[in-house]
Amino acid sequence: MKDIIELLRSRGYKMTPQRRTVIKALFECGKFPTAQDILEYAKTINPDMGLDTIYRNLNLLTEIGVLNIINIKSRDVSVFEVVTNHHHHLICLDCGQMECLDYCPIAGDSEKMAEEKEFKIVGHSLEFYGYCCKCQAS
Ligand SMILES: [Zn+2]
Ligand SMILES: [Zn+2]
Ligand SMILES: [Zn+2]
Repeated sequence: MKDIIELLRSRGYKMTPQRRTVIKALFECGKFPTAQDILEYAKTINPDMGLDTIYRNLNLLTEIGVLNIINIKSRDVSVFEVVTNHHHHLICLDCGQMECLDYCPIAGDSEKMAEEKEFKIVGHSLEFYGYCCKCQAS
């Protein structure tokens, strides 16, 4: 948590009480919290917290590369994960179990192509769907 706060400071971002609460929530809400989980936790510290504030801060953390957004299409929800290295996930369509996969197939080409369209990429998301070993067995 300290590392994230220091990184934000070194990039010139102010450490507001709300921002600190969102970061704390990310560490306290279990492995893959949704924005709603984070909001509920944040409200126990600061009842004025709203979903807008949560998303603003989550987007910022994603942009500086310390947070992963994982889209679970089968549940129509996004979950968040604090990361030290960029990676992707295996998601079971049956039980919803997620596993980290220390791999990224996306190379610098996409950035170059986006640059030609004058688009600046700040992140990407990629999920692998299938069935975990437990669900394959049943
Ligand atoms: Zn499963
Ligand atoms: Zn992961
Ligand atoms: Zn990647």
